[in-house]
Amino acid sequence: MIPPALRIRGAVLVGPQEVRDELWVVDGRISFTAPTGTAARDVRTVSGWALPGLVDAHCHVGLDAGGAVDRPTAEEQITTDRAAGALLLRDAGSPADTRWVDDRDDLPRLVRAGRHIARPRRYLRNYAAEVEPDDLVAEVVTQAGRGDGWVKLVGDWIDRGVGDLAPCWPADAAKAAIDAAHAAGARVTAHCFAEDSLADLVEAGIDCIEHATGLTEDTIPLFAERGVAIVPTLVNIATFEGIARGAEEKFPAYARHMRALHARRYDTVRAAHDAGIPLYVGTDAGGSLPHGLVAAEVAELRRAGLPAQAALSAATWSARAWLGHPALTEGAPADLVVYPADPRADVGVLAAPDLIVLRGRPVAP
Ligand SMILES: [Zn+2]
Repeated sequence: MIPPALRIRGAVLVGPQEVRDELWVVDGRISFTAPTGTAARDVRTVSGWALPGLVDAHCHVGLDAGGAVDRPTAEEQITTDRAAGALLLRDAGSPADTRWVDDRDDLPRLVRAGRHIARPRRYLRNYAAEVEPDDLVAEVVTQAGRGDGWVKLVGDWIDRGVGDLAPCWPADAAKAAIDAAHAAGARVTAHCFAEDSLADLVEAGIDCIEHATGLTEDTIPLFAERGVAIVPTLVNIATFEGIARGAEEKFPAYARHMRALHARRYDTVRAAHDAGIPLYVGTDAGGSLPHGLVAAEVAELRRAGLPAQAALSAATWSARAWLGHPALTEGAPADLVVYPADPRADVGVLAAPDLIVLRGRPVAP
């Protein structure tokens, strides 16, 4: 039996400036030409505003607050992302083997960063491959082999001896590790909350920084000049107050620091965007946060002062290009989401899609 072709009519948001009035899905692929012959016999028409499948550029599948989770739990996580319209995920570090996802046509596409790489006792328990700087290059090569073109470092974390956030890696170790990852064909990103590790990592050639709450007027121009991307994960930064409260008795300087980073988070993100730093939507789902928050993160970018087009692009067109996946182009795999109202007028509509199409097949919202 030939599956019905799908016709989306209304506003097909092909790019930030390009809108078409209809699109067809035939044999799992996007076409801007009406089907003919047998494919034209059975066409289902859906009206609305269509976007490319959303991107969550920082989440964790197979991970929760305690470390690796079993396969049914990981499946529930990625299914929740799918129901939110997030059809392309960059996994920013997972201790679980999630290769089985690649064999499942009904689950989102996953771009992995291997397992987090951290200094011993300088990150969450059970998350990371923990190595000292002398072993960093070897571990980066190992994790580049486990991933899909990304490696994830923990760039800073609380140093309990110092009582505050502090960089995890000497600059020369970071440089050697980033060179090794690039030689292995992987881009490198790092978790960084504070200010101090950023300039060294950019000088070492890093490709992206997660969270990036420590950007300042000194480092923002440097990121912009080098084209280093950031994934702000504002829905996660919202938890800083709780982290500070839990830590203030033992580590008052750390608590103050976290609160200061939190207080200026919107200013930081807006200044980064205004300076031309590429910026993408990521939720940090799968550590302590639930999956499926992609619409909430887009709304946070609006709250930070980004224009609607920029906030949408960070979850769609530009994010897909950054990860090397097509958007709504002729012949591309049909991964798209249809909304009942214009997301450019109100990004809040992203929270309730009418239709989600993955690899040409409708999946339940
Ligand atoms: Zn994360």
